[in-house]
Amino acid sequence: MAFLFNSDATRGAIFKEAFARELPDLEFVGQGQPVDPDKVRYLLTWTVPGDIARYRNLEVLFCIGAGVDQLKQDSLPDHVALVRMVEDGIIRMMQEYVTLGVLTLHREMLAYRDLQKQSAWQTLAAPQATARRIGFLGLGILAQAAIERLKPFQFPLAGWSRSKKQIDGVTCHHGPDGLADFLAETDILVCLLPLTDETRGILNAELFSQLPAGARLLHVGRGPQLDQTALIEALDSGRLAAAMLDVTDPEPLPADHPLWHHPKVAITPHIASVTQPETAAHSVIENIRRHRAGETLIGLVDRTRGY
Ligand code: NDP
Repeated sequence: MAFLFNSDATRGAIFKEAFARELPDLEFVGQGQPVDPDKVRYLLTWTVPGDIARYRNLEVLFCIGAGVDQLKQDSLPDHVALVRMVEDGIIRMMQEYVTLGVLTLHREMLAYRDLQKQSAWQTLAAPQATARRIGFLGLGILAQAAIERLKPFQFPLAGWSRSKKQIDGVTCHHGPDGLADFLAETDILVCLLPLTDETRGILNAELFSQLPAGARLLHVGRGPQLDQTALIEALDSGRLAAAMLDVTDPEPLPADHPLWHHPKVAITPHIASVTQPETAAHSVIENIRRHRAGETLIGLVDRTRGY
């Protein structure tokens, strides 16, 4: 029985050491190493390899990232379980980034960046956190972890998900019917939705028009969820006051794209959160243990929903 690691060698070395320590009975095969395809039960990868059909006994495909939109799920045999990455390192980095982004937008750091360029010593209004409502599109693992970090600041917190939720200290909305009420009460909108057919293009002019005037956007989901032209129009008209984007479409964002130089926009190159090999190896090993014991896998993707 073998585990095939189809990702970079640096991370592979860390995984290999952890597997040797914790799962010595499972053969660990690094990228490019020879393997009997019939022995491969587990595969870790970012995209579905073109030769997936070779691995006739494959049971679980582990995605090395938290999102699975880049995986062409149609090319994966139906009986193979698809598992996304849920691990402490990704969660902690996302908590940091969302806290950074919310505070950046709350404390007007983009406007101060602009004033600094003009050598202008000018103060701006500074509402209390208790008066700045933070709303999360998506209330999954990452959003809920970020919410926990934000609680001590005393921002009013809300969120929107597909299914109904109850989260301590968070006003929860759900489903298409719950979206308008949620948006009407959100001053800083944080997008942490997976990319699916339903969420593609969700951050558009109509959605922006439902936010209070002067609202802000922190986008950490996936680039194709955002209509970038509509964002620029909303910023230029003053409907939105500022935006911080970790994801764009395409990536990398072309050098001549107007978003790069927009005074109300901050951009980072999809670095909000990255899989950390030490903690990720631990999480994959725990899932293999669960799989062998017939238990539910953590991060199991519902392939009909697409996330
Ligand atoms: P989860 O699957 O745990 O959570 C997804 C959330 O989105 C759930 O609350 C789900 O609702 C909600 N959702 C999905 N579709 C809809 C819909 N149509 N309408 C309403 N709500 C919906 O994912 P994670 O929290 O782990 O990750 C979220 C995303 O973050 C990833 O898919 C990835 O795209 C992005 N990401 C970005 C990174 C970066 O560096 N920028 C790094 C890591 C992840 P319900 O709870 O009802 O199912």
